[in-house]
Amino acid sequence: MELKILGSSSKGNCYLLDNGKEALMIECGIAFKNVQKAVDFDITRIKACIISHEHGDHAKHVKRCLDAMIPCYMSDGTRNALGLASHPLAHAMTENVLHKIGNFGVLPFDTEHDAAQPFGFLIAHPECGTVLFATDTYYLQYTFDGLNNILIECNYRQDILDANVEAGLIPAKLRARTMKSHCSFETCKEILQANDLSEVHNIVLIHLSDGNSNAVEFQQGIADLTHKIVTVARSGMTINFNKSPF
Ligand SMILES: [Zn+2]
Ligand SMILES: [Zn+2]
Repeated sequence: MELKILGSSSKGNCYLLDNGKEALMIECGIAFKNVQKAVDFDITRIKACIISHEHGDHAKHVKRCLDAMIPCYMSDGTRNALGLASHPLAHAMTENVLHKIGNFGVLPFDTEHDAAQPFGFLIAHPECGTVLFATDTYYLQYTFDGLNNILIECNYRQDILDANVEAGLIPAKLRARTMKSHCSFETCKEILQANDLSEVHNIVLIHLSDGNSNAVEFQQGIADLTHKIVTVARSGMTINFNKSPF
C-alpha cells in the first residue's frame, strides 16, 4: 500500500491510500485532475472518498468527485453543510460505527473543530494495517489500539504563533481561532505519547500552517520523541504505507 499526498495545507488537502488495485481517497480539497493523474486515470479503482468536514480546503471539489461516480462518505452534519443531503452518492457515516468500503474498514470518530460535525478516521486494510487520520482538531478525546501508520495534524507551535501576533503579522483573534480549532506541535506530541506506538511504521505530520510552523524542527522533534519514521507531508510525496516496513 502506498500513501500518496496530493495536498496537505490550508490551500487544499487530499490523500490516497492506493495499492494499484483499490484506493481510498481522503479529503477532496484539490483539483480533481490531480487525483486522476495520481491513479493513472483509472478512477474506477477509487472505492470512495471520505471527508473530515465541510471546509473548502477539505471538501471544495466534492461535487466533481460525485460527478465522477465516486461515493463520498462524511458525517450527517458535514453532508448537510455541503448541501448534499439528497445526493444518492453522498453517504452519512455514524461515529464509532465501522463502515466497509472495498477491503477498507473506516471507523469515524468525533474531532474538535469549528465545523458542523467534524470527523477523524481510523482506517483498516490488510496491507496497511490500522491507520489513524486526524486533522483540524485541537485535541483528541480518544486513544487507539494497534496503530500501524499515523497521519496527524501538526499545525502550529505556540511560540511561533505568539511571536507572529507580537510582530503584528497575525491578529490576536486569529490566534484564538487557531488555538480552538487546530492541533499544535505540543498537542500532537501529547496525542502520540498517549497512544501505543509499538507497532507504528510511519508518522506523517499533516496540515502544517504556512506561517506558524517549522517543518524541520517539527520533523526532528517528533522523531526524537517517537523514534519512528517521521515525514512532513508535502504534495507530490509517495510513502510506503505497508503494515510493516517489509
Ligand atoms: Zn483544514
Ligand atoms: Zn477546517
